[in-house]
Amino acid sequence: MAAAKHFTYVILGGGVAAGYAAREFAKQGIKPGELAIISKESVAPYERPALSKGYLFPQNAARLPGFHTCVGSGGERLLPEWYSEKGAEANNILYLRDIDDADKLVAAMQAKKDGKAVVVGGGYIGLELSAALKTNNFDVTMVTAVKLKNGNVLEADIVIVGVGGRPLTHLFKGQVAEEKGGIKTDAFFETSVPGVYAIADVAAFPMKLYNEMRRVEHVDHARKSAEQAVKAIKAKEAGESVPEYDYLPYFYSRSFDLSWQFYGDNVGEDVLFGDNDPTAAKPKFGSYWIKDGKVVGVFLEGGSAEENQAIAKVARAQPPVADVEALKKEGLDFAAKV
Ligand SMILES: Cc1cc2nc3c(=O)[nH]c(=O)nc-3n(C[C@H](O)[C@H](O)[C@H](O)COP(=O)(O)OP(=O)(O)OC[C@H]3O[C@@H](n4cnc5c(N)ncnc54)[C@H](O)[C@@H]3O)c2cc1C
Repeated sequence: MAAAKHFTYVILGGGVAAGYAAREFAKQGIKPGELAIISKESVAPYERPALSKGYLFPQNAARLPGFHTCVGSGGERLLPEWYSEKGAEANNILYLRDIDDADKLVAAMQAKKDGKAVVVGGGYIGLELSAALKTNNFDVTMVTAVKLKNGNVLEADIVIVGVGGRPLTHLFKGQVAEEKGGIKTDAFFETSVPGVYAIADVAAFPMKLYNEMRRVEHVDHARKSAEQAVKAIKAKEAGESVPEYDYLPYFYSRSFDLSWQFYGDNVGEDVLFGDNDPTAAKPKFGSYWIKDGKVVGVFLEGGSAEENQAIAKVARAQPPVADVEALKKEGLDFAAKV
């Protein structure tokens, strides 16, 4: 039995946000023994998006320690040793969910070589999984319901259900205020209980840009909200303050050799531009979302770093649009001018 211990900071959950929060705590100069991470996973925090991409490649597949946080944002990998060096007893980190699932999938793909797979659910993770299965030579069928109405039976060696997840709030039921299916926080990710913070997927926070409470289930927000919360905690201790979280929604996905980015809000009228011919060698196309005469969201497939920066700028600036047809024709040139 472990002896009772006291920690100044405790992070519950050892996923993406935990890794980024740990790094920020280290940057802020916390001392060994001050921080505990309680996780179900037996591995140190890692970049979860890799599980439906590089982890399933048939060759040169990504494996830990290659994708521990915070490599996803271009930082150093926080290997298990990093936590030990900073004073953690890393053997206390426990594990369940996703890398186990990914390993089972890898084993199933090896056991059923060139077999048939059925993926239930067509969200981006379902799409990424289908791409990975196809790359592994599987004959893939995507369906959006388990039971087909026409009575057809889909033969399958592997069935993957990818119908979305829900934030785990039940642990805190009745103890913290909730909103939008998540834990309600302020712009510093502090919950209704002082000193208790909720970050990443589980947090419903005030999104300054849209002046409303939102929950965001994307890795970029997981990283940034973790950093914001730790900065706010340390600033508060020093009697200082940090600016409110001012997040621009950002999301990406990759399937086969396609790679897209999205910034802002996908509400209102959508305007498709560019070359979306599936037979084109390098299709480059996108979509603007227009609400109340302003561009509020932009999607771009196949963009360069500069082009992706330009669409981010558009989603943040929300420029007015007088002529939708002209915008459609202008396509990316419109973004370049903002
Ligand atoms: C397969 C996959 C692919 C993805 N791809 C993308 C992508 O391409 N782009 C993108 O923007 N986002 C992507 N995401 C979403 C992104 O990974 C999440 O937004 C991010 O991981 C959220 O960080 P988090 O720390 O809130 O949660 P998680 O990273 O899920 O971490 C939660 C942690 O809490 C632990 N835990 C849960 N319950 C308990 C408990 N009772 N006690 C202790 N520990 C507990 C879990 O084991 C886990 O370690 C993907 C997600 C998945 C699953």
